[in-house]
Formats: sequence, structure tokens, C-alpha cells
Amino acid sequence: MGLLEQHKQPAVKETKMQEEKLQELLQYVSQHSPFYKELFAKHQVDISVIKTLTDLSLIPPTTKEDLQQRNNDFLCVPAEKVVEYTSTSGTLGSPVTIALTENDLNRLAYNEYNSFSCADGSKNDIYQLMLTLDRQFMAGIAYYLGIRKLGAGIIRLGPGVPALQWETIKRLKPTAIVAVPSFILKLIAFAKEAGIDVNQTSVKKAICIGENIRNTDFSLNILGKKITESWDIHLYSTYASTEMQTAFTECGEGKGGHYQPELVIVELLDENNQPVEPYTPGEVTITTLGVEGMPLLRYKTGDICMYFDEPCACGRTSLRLSSILGRKKQMIKFKGTTLYPPALFDLLNEREEILDFVVEVYSNEIGLDQVLLYVLPIENSEECDHRIRAYLQARLRVSPHIKYVTAEEIQKIQFSEASRKAIKFIDKRA
Ligand SMILES: [Zn+2]
Repeated sequence: MGLLEQHKQPAVKETKMQEEKLQELLQYVSQHSPFYKELFAKHQVDISVIKTLTDLSLIPPTTKEDLQQRNNDFLCVPAEKVVEYTSTSGTLGSPVTIALTENDLNRLAYNEYNSFSCADGSKNDIYQLMLTLDRQFMAGIAYYLGIRKLGAGIIRLGPGVPALQWETIKRLKPTAIVAVPSFILKLIAFAKEAGIDVNQTSVKKAICIGENIRNTDFSLNILGKKITESWDIHLYSTYASTEMQTAFTECGEGKGGHYQPELVIVELLDENNQPVEPYTPGEVTITTLGVEGMPLLRYKTGDICMYFDEPCACGRTSLRLSSILGRKKQMIKFKGTTLYPPALFDLLNEREEILDFVVEVYSNEIGLDQVLLYVLPIENSEECDHRIRAYLQARLRVSPHIKYVTAEEIQKIQFSEASRKAIKFIDKRA
């Protein structure tokens, strides 16, 4: 067998396995899901002709709005079979309830067992969970169940309170932490103040949740760099959402989150619901496999990622997802290029001339997206202005409008909506 065939072999097996599971799923939802029964009838979808993954395109995608408006119609089991009610955070729009059965919880445990194993975890590890395990947060229980299955130790410390986190690290000597990367920065800052040498502690790795730590070329972004410059630990990024009940987690290579083909079918689709090529941004669209409570068919997550399909150096051959480029709703089409706020934030964070900023997007008189940057510069000079403009032109290849503001003015813009968190992105588009 040639090298190429060896690599091809597992993919063929995966496809066959997924196609069998897909047919089971179609049978299941056509009998038990009020939403999909209606969808199949309305669009005259004949599930008996859907045999291959390519045939999936015969089913219209499900949107977040469908799930918000028809939430209960997605439930495929009677209420007495539901053991856990989780909920999405509702950062964009109203929250959605995802109900899980006992089997779904077991599936979730298996999913995170795979995730933590992929991120070089073993029974010898002790994980300090710096996140909430209540408030209907699915990821919290998912990590807990997955780590238990792994046989590793768990310290459920909860979010925040750096002093308590460090005190516990000293006392119980965890080998790993699970945390939001910006909180890891706060931990580092606290340690510096308190005279704790972070590199002399037991912690050797961090599973980073909720925020990107990498650019699309896999290099660490500003956040990832800031962490590792002070703290010599290995960072593993993980991407998941409540709706898909499945995680994409990096291995030690740090080259994107590994796909679990037995748990989910993933498609990356363009605006016309056509599959995109590798290394091309597309909307993550998932079909859950093995979910009993609220299975989803071609659910469009709203997250824009790229995928990579060459085998990973760790030996896994299934595809990998990049970190999230942005949310579909926040996509900016500016002078012929497509931009997402996180990429813009990374660019602006990188310049020492820029102390703070707010990105505003609005529609001009002919409905095209325009970008206005409110910038607090390090100094008000022509030379500083020139450096900022040259940098943006070089990196964006287009020049947004810039309005220089004072510290007081930017404060007003960032906290205008009585929000506790500084607003960095304002969307004024119609
Ligand atoms: Zn890998």
C-alpha cells in the first residue's frame, strides 16, 4: 500500500460510518422531531434518497432563528427522558435550551474524553477548572464528565478569584488548568503582584476555552503570546458550542482543532450553502450524530472558520478547524475585502502607537459597509498618524476612516450602554 492510499484509507472508513449514522439519524428525526417532520414535508425531502454525505445538500439548513423560535419542536423524546437542561449563552439573540438525555450525557463525556486525550491529557493529570459548572453551562459539565472518564483528577474551583486560584494551585498541585485565556492573563498579573513565580508551579498546560489564542496560520495571537511570554506552559485551544454538543480540540501540534467524525458531520459552507475549499472561510454547519434529545441536521452555527485536510503530524487524519475568524453576522465587506472584527482587533492590538480603539461599522448611502476606527493614539503627531495609516494600509490593503479621540472620549464610547465590559465593536448597519 502506498503512502497516499494509507492516508486515504481511514477517510473512506469514516465516510462509510458517517453515512450509516446519517441514515439512522434521518429515520429518527423523521419519526420523533416535530420540527424536522414539518421541514421534510414542506420542502418535499425524501429521506430514502439521502444515502451519501453529498446528498446532505438536499436538506435545507437549520438556522439559529429556527432553534430560537421553535425550540421545543426540536425535542425528540418525552420530558421524562430528559436529565439535563442546558442553555446557550445568548450573546447574540435570545438563549436556546438544549435538553439532554442520559445517553446524550454519556456521549458528551465520550466527546470530552477524546478532547482531553487529544490535548495530551492522561489519568496522571490534575485539572483545575476555572469556569462555572452551573448556570446551565454545558461545557462545564462536559469537561467534568470527560475528565472523569479519563481518570484524571479534578479541582472544581469556578471562575475568577485569582488569589484563591493560586492558593489552590500551591496546595493541590494541578498539572493543567482549563480557563478563558484573558483570565489566564489576569492570573499572571496577580502572580507578579503577589511575588509568585508562575514557572515554578505545578501547572504545565492550559486548555483555552471561549477565546482565540491563534492566528489562522497557527501562530499564537497577541493573547497567546502574552500568556506564553510570561508563563512557560503549553496552550491547547478548544472550540465547541452547546448546540453541537461536540468539541474540536487541538493536539500538541497546535495546528487546529481535531474533528471527531463519529460524533458530528461538519460542513463549511459559503453564502450560497455551497461547500468551500480548504483554507477558505466558511460557516461551520453541523449534523449531530448519536444525539437523542435534540439532534440537529445541517445546523448553521454562525461561526466562520477554515478547515485543513492534510494529515496532522500527531498521526490523526481527520480534518482540523482553524480558530473562529468571526461571527457571520459581524462579517464586514469593505472595499472588496471580507473582514471579521477579531482579525481587526488583533491588528490594532499589535501596534504600540494605538493605546485603545473602537471599531464602528455603518452603511453608506448606497448600502455598502464602511469602517470607522476611533483610535486613542500614543501621541498626537503627524508622524504617529502616518505610521498608523501605513500599517493599516499594508495589513488590510484598504484604508478605513480614522478618528483620533482622547482617553475620555473613548471611555464614553466604550461604556455608553451601561455595559460592564468595554465595547470594542459597534454595528450601526441597517
Ligand atoms: Zn494533531
